[in-house]
Amino acid sequence: MNLTQRDKRIIWHPYTQHRLNPDSIGIVKGKGTYVFDEHGKKYIDALSSWWTCIHGHSHPYIAKKVSKQLKQLEHVIFAGFTHEPAVELAERLLKKFPKNQKRIFFSDNGSTAVEVALKMSFQYWYNKGIPKTKVIAFKNDYHGDTFGAMAVSDRGAFSKPFESHLFDVLFIDAPVKGKEKESVIQLRYQISNLGSQISSFIFEPLVQGVAGMIVHNAEALSEMIRICRENQIFTIADEVFTGFGRTGKFFATDHLTDKPDMMCLSKGLTGGTMAMGVTSCTDEVFDAFLSKDRINTFFHGHSFTANPVACAASLASMDLMEQKETWKRIRRIGNKHNKFKLKVESQKSKVKGKIQEIRRMGTILAIELKTSGETSYFNSIRDKAVKFFLDKGILLRPLGNVIYLVPPYCITDKDLDYIYDSILEFLNLL
Ligand SMILES: *Cc1c(COP(=O)(O)O)cnc(C)c1O
Repeated sequence: MNLTQRDKRIIWHPYTQHRLNPDSIGIVKGKGTYVFDEHGKKYIDALSSWWTCIHGHSHPYIAKKVSKQLKQLEHVIFAGFTHEPAVELAERLLKKFPKNQKRIFFSDNGSTAVEVALKMSFQYWYNKGIPKTKVIAFKNDYHGDTFGAMAVSDRGAFSKPFESHLFDVLFIDAPVKGKEKESVIQLRYQISNLGSQISSFIFEPLVQGVAGMIVHNAEALSEMIRICRENQIFTIADEVFTGFGRTGKFFATDHLTDKPDMMCLSKGLTGGTMAMGVTSCTDEVFDAFLSKDRINTFFHGHSFTANPVACAASLASMDLMEQKETWKRIRRIGNKHNKFKLKVESQKSKVKGKIQEIRRMGTILAIELKTSGETSYFNSIRDKAVKFFLDKGILLRPLGNVIYLVPPYCITDKDLDYIYDSILEFLNLL
């Protein structure tokens, strides 16, 4: 039996309806932009495997550093102990973060990084004896699949079975094009209404990924951060997706004039090598947990907190992020995306009528298709597209009616052109 056959008898996959999609492609190797299946077929990984492997697969430099760390120290309990990779990573991340960020808390993934930020903000107010239990978030946001992260994510089909277990969140519109003012007004309204009960405002800065790569306005978001600061509401930038060059700058927050109180990282953090999360915060947050009374401690931790091997992978990825070559690649991909966008939007383009909107930010390109009926995740165009692109040797999984690219930075112009051409071919078939 091959991998696909052995797998389908015993494994339950994420976001997979096994009745409709029982077969998983068996992957045996990854190299740069490509993954190879057990029959030798090559796929261009156009979404960096769920937005993680920013430098490409099985990067030799990361592999070397990870292997060295494995032989030095594979893991140690992180309460009462520390180690070089964690200290160095925290030092180097803080140099990249906005200056107000002063402390690093490690966890396991993007969802836990969000849980930690939410718990820090709730407990901050608890420790001060001021009960603040509500949170503001953007409609269409996605922050993860654990309960706290789910509560602050857009409520829809995915969260429906758990709705009654999710805490109170005040949802406002993100400041997307045409809604910049309205979004700020909605924030002000929530604050004037319930301001004294609101502990924090969490958002995906500038790009709402899972919602379909929806881009919003940096000035409006900066203004919202300012308003929250004036009203003693913590701001939490969930950079799990947008961090590490994805939006053209190191962090999406670097596009803002006002800086958040906390930041969440994961996905590209380890260069996609393994799971790790980071939550950073200001001295103000950290200091509220300092006390002679142990009850004010932040009682949160995971078995693998600050795993040295994950830290070593992150440090290697940081080395790569600091190379000029990486930033040249990021700019090159952005420019290529833009040219393709202009070409498709031009009057002569044959597929223009099938497209609702094309969005581009940094290395992200999203093509939203016009649809008549269901525009959600459950859109049937999606299944057609997945199969079409797999047949072409391209790994793309549209978000509903949005076909998008989030490629590893090492992708070549030739592979990008091949993907663009395939997208046009698919649109012509529709
Ligand atoms: C993917 C994602 C998460 C969740 O991260 P996991 O590692 O999948 O738990 C949280 N926030 C954003 C913005 C994400 O894109």
